[in-house]
Amino acid sequence: MKRNDFIKSAGILIASSMIDLKSFGNSVLENENSYRMPAFFIGHGNPMNALYDNTFTKALSKSVIGIPTPKAILVVSAHWQTKGTYVTSMLAPKTIHDFGGFPKELFAVEYPALGSPEFAKQVIQQVKSTTVQDDHDWGLDHGAWTVLKHMYPKADIPVFQMSLDYAKSAQWHYDLAKELNALRSKGLLIVGSGNIVHNLGRVSWDDPNVKYDWSVEFDEKVKSDLIKRDHTDLINYEKIGKSAMLSVPTNEHYLPMLYAAALQQKNEEVNFVYEGIEMGSISMRCFKIA
Ligand code: ZN
Repeated sequence: MKRNDFIKSAGILIASSMIDLKSFGNSVLENENSYRMPAFFIGHGNPMNALYDNTFTKALSKSVIGIPTPKAILVVSAHWQTKGTYVTSMLAPKTIHDFGGFPKELFAVEYPALGSPEFAKQVIQQVKSTTVQDDHDWGLDHGAWTVLKHMYPKADIPVFQMSLDYAKSAQWHYDLAKELNALRSKGLLIVGSGNIVHNLGRVSWDDPNVKYDWSVEFDEKVKSDLIKRDHTDLINYEKIGKSAMLSVPTNEHYLPMLYAAALQQKNEEVNFVYEGIEMGSISMRCFKIA
């Protein structure tokens, strides 16, 4: 090989290895950017948990350890039902005290996180199966702030909510949730907030530790379906029969659980962050998908 040819081919080699290095660097960056945020289902229960320090609130605080700081948090709460689907799009959502009969200390609690109009817009663009509309009136209801207060007590991460369309089926909600999955890789933490068993008419006020067969049975059935990844059974929960009828008399507290389940990918596990039945008819089961 002549000297000039050698220099030329060496130059090509160096140039091509530079290209390789460059693409290697890009792929590392892409991998960093494609970290997928976990998804949560939180059984929120009594709003007073916002003020308590107990095994449940301690479990919530612990549940986010080791997770990179999310760019934003999207909460699908049992307490925001609408005709059609909305995302809160304001810059500073108000803390909504959407309950009555609680001590004034609870009404004094504020969760001053900013909203995320940017991510709300991304949800609107991402969802193709329905038209998601922007909302400027709602804020953060107690399904969101009573639990985020323990998960992210500094309220320094933007939070926005997506409503539950009360006219739609469980299957429809499950399918909608799947469309949100891509946003997890953009730094969005998705939290469903409700209760797997939620029957206020059957609450045991006298003995909070009472266990009803039907609530334990339904809660355990959901747990086992989650472990087996039997989401068909979770969606068609009504077919389970009497325990389902009593545990899910109305489905607004159950549906947020389907959102978290629907986000589970093939290589992801379900980890139960907390479990227990309170006052007979409220399941406090919480889980993380990661
Ligand atoms: Zn609730």
